[in-house]
Amino acid sequence: MRDRSRRILVIGAGMAGLTAARQLAEAGRKVLVLEARDRVGGRILTLRDQGEILELGAEFIHGRPAELWDLIGEAGLETYALDGKDFCRKSGKLKKCDEIGEVFKFLNGLQKWKGVDLAFADYPPLEKLSQEKRDEVIQYVQSFNAADYRHIGVHALAVQQRAEKEIASEKVFRVREGYDRVPEFVANKVREAGGRIELSRTVERIEWERGNVRVYVRDGGELAQYSAAKAIIALPLGVLQHLGVVFDPVPAPLIAANQLAMGPVRRFTLLFRERWWATHEKVKLPKLSFLFAQDAMPPVWWTAHPWETHTLTGWIGGPRSAAFDQFTREQVGDAACKELAKIFGLPLAMLRGQLISCATHDWQADPLSCGAYSYVPAGALDSVLKMATPVEQTLYFAGEHTDTTGHWGTVHAAMRSGIRAAKQVLITMRAQRTEPTASARRG
Ligand SMILES: Cc1cc2nc3c(=O)[nH]c(=O)nc-3n(C[C@H](O)[C@H](O)[C@H](O)COP(=O)(O)OP(=O)(O)OC[C@H]3O[C@@H](n4cnc5c(N)ncnc54)[C@H](O)[C@@H]3O)c2cc1C
Repeated sequence: MRDRSRRILVIGAGMAGLTAARQLAEAGRKVLVLEARDRVGGRILTLRDQGEILELGAEFIHGRPAELWDLIGEAGLETYALDGKDFCRKSGKLKKCDEIGEVFKFLNGLQKWKGVDLAFADYPPLEKLSQEKRDEVIQYVQSFNAADYRHIGVHALAVQQRAEKEIASEKVFRVREGYDRVPEFVANKVREAGGRIELSRTVERIEWERGNVRVYVRDGGELAQYSAAKAIIALPLGVLQHLGVVFDPVPAPLIAANQLAMGPVRRFTLLFRERWWATHEKVKLPKLSFLFAQDAMPPVWWTAHPWETHTLTGWIGGPRSAAFDQFTREQVGDAACKELAKIFGLPLAMLRGQLISCATHDWQADPLSCGAYSYVPAGALDSVLKMATPVEQTLYFAGEHTDTTGHWGTVHAAMRSGIRAAKQVLITMRAQRTEPTASARRG
């Protein structure tokens, strides 16, 4: 009975923490969420500028993950499917292409790999590809997974391919009102169910023993202490790896965290006065969706087609993203215009004149994320399971990196991990209620 009245702390109000908090609050538990930022959503970050929606973190819904679509339906949010035409720049020319389709065919073969776990760079079938195809496949793996192809494991990639197939992830959607509406909706549900969310509360230290957690939070200059029976740690992998929070004693999942990897991404969205790629006589690509230009920086671009926004997004995932390290927003915008001028053969002055703003967020330098999203290096698949295993019925880890269904690095992975962690808490709480007390055992 004692545990039923004691609260559960949830550290981090990204999709993992919020999803867990909602489940617990709706099950009648006392929940307090502590979040360092002054907003919920973590790596979902939406800006609004001149009537346009600019996503700086998660943007796409990949396929049909049931938990995310149920939520979107419940929140009554409007979505739309991406369509349009993909183009590739090869030998200096822009051509229609189905680059992703061909890469997918190759990656599907990973599921047949029966050998030991290897880094993707050492995956034997890669050697048999032409140099051009090999570069395309490597670029895709690095770009999509924010990973270094010399580290990411073939076993994890195979699990991921299977998982993506199950949710038909080749179909991609966006939330028209902005992705941040999703975590905001969940946060409201937490509050409606009686849970509390405290923002601008940076957790610095977690002390724990079985059945007791003390969390130390920086509140202005002071250290405030919160205590609870259990805590869900829904912090990003990068924060755990950089010891952004000190644990005393160090729990086993923290050791497992060091076997996983947090990948870098640089993405930016350029807002233009006009949709020049649709109207300029030298370009005229009104249905442009994705553009792949391996020799450009960034190598991946996209519009919001079929929504006719005035935005173009550039994306570099993995080690190549370092090319924009230390760049200010203005420098990113200028470098991007130069690259677009080359790709489309347009005067740089015209593109500079068209540019209104460049929006970007440096997830690597952000101490509350320390990277964009996680990937699983060769030999580290079991570290994911170790991270998802409760510690002494007291600490429970959640977050996209702890997803056990192969969807790492996505919003639905974060949700799944939150659902799993909340279930683990509820199961142990129910079991603890039915356990005989010491005096009853003595008879
Ligand atoms: C550039 C980019 C593009 C992406 N694109 C997509 C996409 O298109 N589709 C998709 O599905 N996914 C995408 N993702 C991945 C997706 O955003 C994440 O997988 C998901 O949002 C992670 O949720 P989370 O709850 O695990 O972590 P987070 O959202 O990072 O939440 C963790 C929370 O912990 C807080 N925190 C950190 N330190 C402390 C502390 N010391 N004390 C208290 N709180 C703290 C953080 O502020 C944060 O709010 C993208 C990510 C990035 C960065």
